[in-house]
Amino acid sequence: MPFELQPLPYATNALSPWISEETLEFHHGKHHKAYVDNLNALVPGTPFENRSLEEIVKTAGAGPVFNNAAQIWNHAFYFESLAPNAGGEPSGSLLEAIVQDFWSFEAFKARFSETAIKTFGSGWAWLVLQPNGTLAITSTSNAASPLAGEDVPLLTCDVWEHAYYVDYRNRRAEYVEKFWNLVNWEKVAERYEKSCR
Ligand code: MN
Repeated sequence: MPFELQPLPYATNALSPWISEETLEFHHGKHHKAYVDNLNALVPGTPFENRSLEEIVKTAGAGPVFNNAAQIWNHAFYFESLAPNAGGEPSGSLLEAIVQDFWSFEAFKARFSETAIKTFGSGWAWLVLQPNGTLAITSTSNAASPLAGEDVPLLTCDVWEHAYYVDYRNRRAEYVEKFWNLVNWEKVAERYEKSCR
């Protein structure tokens, strides 16, 4: 059973003006798709055949199989973290946890943005739920994903240049600032509540 490119949960023009249609056409239609095509070429005849994407990310270790599988998973998670007419602030138990662990929503945003902007080279910024029940902000390089470790990912920002270069050129900080207009807090809260159970 080949791996499939998960469709975007919205139209390619739905996130403009913050993320353009051209960016989404390339990011989803070219970059995300290439990871799917690569994995489908790599897996046949290996022990990863008939494994789920999540199992591969958790067990593959380092190398091309991990890199492509993790990038498929990270991108689907990223695209689902965003939505048109979104942004603003979370509510309920997620907001309470953010305030408890980061002092305020504004302080959380500032620290997450700083982590995203300072991630060296290509990578991802994450809000995760740690095994001890507290929230943390982390950064991973290249394809690395919290899914391969013990933290539960709740939100991510892709800071590979392909995520923002068409719209913001080298201005990653501006992309990260606009990213907040698109965060799907309902989805993040759903992930948080599911992982707390
Ligand atoms: Mn990307």
